[in-house]
Amino acid sequence: MPSNDGVPGARSYRVLIIGGSYAGLSTALTLVDLSRGRIPRFSYDREIAPPAHRIPVDITVIDERDGYYHLIGSPKSLACEKFASDSWTRFQDIPGLKSSGINFIRGSVSSVDFAAKTAHIDETDTKAKRNESYDYLVVGSGLRRTFPTVPQSQVRADFIAEAKSHAEEIQNSCEGVVVVGGGEYSFNFLNPSLPCGSAKLIFCRIILGAVGVEMAAELKILYPDQKITLIHSRNRLLSSEPLPDDFAERVESCLREVGVETILGQRVVDTTAVDTENGRRVWRLALADGRELMTGLVLSAISRSIPTSTYLPSDALNEDGYVKIHPSLQLSGSIPNAESHYCVGDLAAWPGIKRCGGAMHMGHYAGHNLYEHLMAQSAGSKPDVKNLNPFPNVIGLAVGKKAVSWTPDEGTKHGEELMTSLFGEDMGNSNCWNYMQLGEACKA
Ligand SMILES: Cc1cc2nc3c(=O)[nH]c(=O)nc-3n(C[C@H](O)[C@H](O)[C@H](O)COP(=O)(O)OP(=O)(O)OC[C@H]3O[C@@H](n4cnc5c(N)ncnc54)[C@H](O)[C@@H]3O)c2cc1C
Repeated sequence: MPSNDGVPGARSYRVLIIGGSYAGLSTALTLVDLSRGRIPRFSYDREIAPPAHRIPVDITVIDERDGYYHLIGSPKSLACEKFASDSWTRFQDIPGLKSSGINFIRGSVSSVDFAAKTAHIDETDTKAKRNESYDYLVVGSGLRRTFPTVPQSQVRADFIAEAKSHAEEIQNSCEGVVVVGGGEYSFNFLNPSLPCGSAKLIFCRIILGAVGVEMAAELKILYPDQKITLIHSRNRLLSSEPLPDDFAERVESCLREVGVETILGQRVVDTTAVDTENGRRVWRLALADGRELMTGLVLSAISRSIPTSTYLPSDALNEDGYVKIHPSLQLSGSIPNAESHYCVGDLAAWPGIKRCGGAMHMGHYAGHNLYEHLMAQSAGSKPDVKNLNPFPNVIGLAVGKKAVSWTPDEGTKHGEELMTSLFGEDMGNSNCWNYMQLGEACKA
């Protein structure tokens, strides 16, 4: 049992967290541990002392979704109903949250008043507009991404239906599936609502990570009889990432091993719907070199990652819409009460490749620093601030049965063992779930 005491007369502090995913939940669970006098579950150093004081914290997480969704498994879970079911757990069904005392509001934050310390929320269930005041705000609402990179459902039941229908489309597609993506490029976006035969050109600039690669590989593993083709406009996969050529070459050879056909260095310049004699619709893709390709389904693995920060005053944001932070994760823009506001996860303007491991690490540090700040407020202690280092450019990709990774120290590695250690059997779902200890009741 922790031996530390509560601070006599300390009031309860109200912490609002926007976003109940890797970053937001890690922040919340760090605060739960600290406020119960425990060393945070994310701390590597078990020798450190538990917090000197226990201070009551009233934590509320606001999320548009009704549960925790394992986002990084999307290339598989969106294409497989069974896997989908394991990837989304309603907050109310998570043992580690039920016993945590954390409150959940299902809704979308529409604006924040830093000076008044109030968040305005559009509540989903009641459709009511609700104002929540706070002592501390943690922003962890990530990036908005499109289908089929991530599901668009916000409720578990809808997500299962979304994945089932997508899986059926993939299975029933005649003439295979084409995944378009693998770097940064302009793309002729497919608009299925336009009439058959018309050209469908909507030019957009796209930043794409590894989603196309993982999606193509997972589809081939799930549906080995289906022809899967990955088209990428550059001669090298992952051309937009700061990664060496041998990594991209290894990824390409793993894709081929799985049976994915790759077309590199070709832009899709036109996509036309064609109705076949047997009443089915297929798509004719024209490539820049004049080649044509028929396929039953085109998946644009194009993550147009747009920061969700539209609800925040612009003084808090950089020119791309990311939240400016100090290494302490406190907001660094010129805003009122900056020391009471934190940002964690993908939404933060922080160097390095954005990853869920980084998001959980930020959550740990933000929870720690926030608790140190409120201990200083109520007990007058000197805050022991943990400062974040820039994230190294490291990456691990699931390419079918093998993983391919790159780190500055070890360079490119690949193999089935690496797949097990990085992603386990379920695209990392158990790893993240266990790391956050979501399956275990919170200790008192
Ligand atoms: C297909 C794919 C594969 C990936 N693979 C990997 C991988 O293998 N390894 C890795 O480390 N990383 C991977 N990533 C990156 C990783 O998923 C992100 O870094 C991580 O999800 C960031 O977590 P987050 O908590 O900051 O944001 P998110 O996970 O994006 O969560 C944000 C939450 O905020 C909620 N929200 C958004 N707006 C609002 C609002 N206005 N009001 C209330 N709630 C809101 C959302 O519903 C969501 O629950 C992958 C990403 C994708 C898309």
